[in-house]
Amino acid sequence: MMSWTLAARADKMNPSVIREILKVTEKPGIISFAGGLPSPKTFPVAEFRAACDKVLAEDGAGALQYAASEGYGPLREMVAAALPWPVAPSQVLVTTGSQQGLDLIAKILIDQGSRVLVETPTYLGALQAFTPMEPRHVAVASDDEGVSAEDFAAQAGQGAERARFAYLLPNFQNPTGRTMTEARRAAVVAAASAAGVPLVEDNPYGDLWFDAPPPAPLTARNPEGCVYLGSFSKVLAPGLRLGFMVAPPALYPKLLQAKQAADLHSPGFNQRMVAQVMQDGFLDRHVPTIRALYKSQRDHMLAALAREMPAGVQWNQPAGGMFLWLRLPAGLDTVALLPRAVERNVAFVPGAAFYAEAAEANTMRLSFVTASHTQIDIGIAALAQTIREALDAQPAARQPAAVQP
Ligand code: PMP
Repeated sequence: MMSWTLAARADKMNPSVIREILKVTEKPGIISFAGGLPSPKTFPVAEFRAACDKVLAEDGAGALQYAASEGYGPLREMVAAALPWPVAPSQVLVTTGSQQGLDLIAKILIDQGSRVLVETPTYLGALQAFTPMEPRHVAVASDDEGVSAEDFAAQAGQGAERARFAYLLPNFQNPTGRTMTEARRAAVVAAASAAGVPLVEDNPYGDLWFDAPPPAPLTARNPEGCVYLGSFSKVLAPGLRLGFMVAPPALYPKLLQAKQAADLHSPGFNQRMVAQVMQDGFLDRHVPTIRALYKSQRDHMLAALAREMPAGVQWNQPAGGMFLWLRLPAGLDTVALLPRAVERNVAFVPGAAFYAEAAEANTMRLSFVTASHTQIDIGIAALAQTIREALDAQPAARQPAAVQP
């Protein structure tokens, strides 16, 4: 009888907590604020259909052949030209989603026991990408403005203990929807430079601002000390599986080797279609329609929350992106609450899924982009009712929520 002996790193891999939790939400008729999916209404299907024809007619063999690991030249040029700091196309590495970028970074920068600084809370998919390399995730204290520069400096470490990098999401963060202020960006970049800790800046949502663009990226302030991750998933479509990294010359060759080992290159067909669709400034016309849709979705959810939620429940007002963050009175546990919400046909992601260290059990992530306005009204009312019941069962929790440190 054959027996499989797993590598230690495979033992470290966990099924996505979110996927496991969300199995209970796979019930017909459920109103889900849990998913992280962009609204399919924003997918430019007709443009891709036309681009597909054009690419196959004009460059079919090129699109279907093996290609360079760095990515399709014209796409790399478009990416470099669109970024708000001087970037040479040779610094751009096209990836199979920005998720692959996180995996490549983990492979080339993390040894067993390496310290990696992360926000509190942070993107679960990044923790999943880093974990197999067996780092020690170090949660940096964070508030509504992002990570604290003081705590960053305190946790940076020195010598062999110096953090290999800090993973930061300055714009409309997943899961909280928060945005780092200009002052905080400047302070964190200064703290990182002083401590000699490089930054990995993940920015899939930055273009999805509602009223005003966010402050300049961290990478624009110190390109040699940062790797920048971008994605086409939220501005075009996630099914393309295309993203990109901008890496300094000190890192690029190693990332490229890791990329070769992972998948040789990202699909040339998809890269050509994206380049074709993006020609003539398509994103300048398309992205504003996503912003307008998501802003109206956010406003609708904010209005429903204000109308329905019992006293003591707090939430933020994200300035862009897809998510907002709800904080219930201390003592309530959103993991325990989820099955009761699902009984009332509404789902969310418990905040505990997003913490590298001690979780705040009374938090949850709500996506405001895919539900219709009517579903938002019904779903938020059902969620409020679920919370009210939990509060009634646990009167001690009726105290005001603890202020986030
Ligand atoms: N980073 C963050 C913060 C995300 O929210 C996501 C998608 N949920 C990704 C990276 C991965 O996106 P993709 O691989 O589709 O580019």
